[in-house]
Amino acid sequence: MTATRFFRLPSVKRKRNGLLTALGATLAAFALLAGTARAQSSTETAPMQRATTTAERSSSEMPSNVVMVVHGGAGSIEEVNMTEEEAEAYRAELTEALRAGYAVIRDGGSSLDAVEAAIKPMEESRMFNSGRGGVFTNAGTVEHDASIMEGATRKAGAIAGTKHIAHPIEAARLVMEESPHVMLARQGAEEFALAQGMDLVPNDYFYTDERRARFLEGLSSDASTEKAPDEDAGVRARPERAPEHLGTVGEHLGTVGAAAVDQSGTLAAGTSTGGTFNKRWGRIGDSPITGAGSYAENETAAVSSTGWGEYFIRGVVPHDIASMMRYGDASLTEAARTVINEKLPQIGDGQGTGGVIALDVEGNVATPFTTPGMFRGWITEEGEVAVRFYAKDQYDGPMDGE
Ligand code: ASP
Repeated sequence: MTATRFFRLPSVKRKRNGLLTALGATLAAFALLAGTARAQSSTETAPMQRATTTAERSSSEMPSNVVMVVHGGAGSIEEVNMTEEEAEAYRAELTEALRAGYAVIRDGGSSLDAVEAAIKPMEESRMFNSGRGGVFTNAGTVEHDASIMEGATRKAGAIAGTKHIAHPIEAARLVMEESPHVMLARQGAEEFALAQGMDLVPNDYFYTDERRARFLEGLSSDASTEKAPDEDAGVRARPERAPEHLGTVGEHLGTVGAAAVDQSGTLAAGTSTGGTFNKRWGRIGDSPITGAGSYAENETAAVSSTGWGEYFIRGVVPHDIASMMRYGDASLTEAARTVINEKLPQIGDGQGTGGVIALDVEGNVATPFTTPGMFRGWITEEGEVAVRFYAKDQYDGPMDGE
């Protein structure tokens, strides 16, 4: 299928001092106008292609015109442990997320809308550790964290430790847009979401009785298992829904995230998670923390993290990537790889593992990680999708700008 270019990413070049000059901004404005004109004159819909199959592109073909990148978590995702059916199911989920975000950008929508549109289907899926598939705390509850950020204004929103919000990414965005705050937690966040018109759901919406029983069985000999206090009393939940069977897919549950650039050249990033498996109830990870879970600024990058959150908080990983670009003049790839592969392992006892997806306004993408795998995928402005899982498929070509 011949790809039809439906718009061109604004050609915003970072200057060595990391700031846009008047000339750069003028060029960007022209590029933007030209792109908009092209988009308006085109009645064609950009072709939506099938995800790349196991025959991945070679590393030297890493595209530089990406409009959206997503991840479905980093961890022990290995080819030997993945059936072809599971791999196909993950490929389909990631492709659906990318297409949902792409449709928004193609139609002239904002990168924020695209990030939310991409994350929501993953929150609905039981195959990721977010929304419906959130993992259990040590008390057998499911507690979510999420954040979202926009790169032009650097507005940010987050929710932490909620137990009754089906779409944490939507609630995070509402905090950003409808409150003077950046982060709301637990019942306060839930009451806010309810006041904003979101439905609340019982905590068991996020699991099946069978899945929870299996989890509690595994913990029954563990004296440290705790009961979370009953905080649900003050929360108006909607009637319980019939639990679904988890099925065999879903053993590799991972956090989800997305980064996008829209036709105006605005970046956005978002992250949504159930946190780490068997975390102490009440624990808040990196995902809802601006600069640690998600970060976006147009002059540098949009970044979403996944991995051992405590280390990502201590390393302020996405913000560190942006800082290397802004103050150190590093390229996106160089900054993302340095922070993930060199700086993150140096924190404390060196146990911090994980990865990021990172995107700049020119459409360059970087997806470094230190775990055996990371579910990830991107879509170009022509609508070409690529999905990858394993470390062996990590990009190892020259860094951009070299
Ligand atoms: N970073 C998340 C957390 O620590 C977990 C993950 O990404 O898998 O809460």
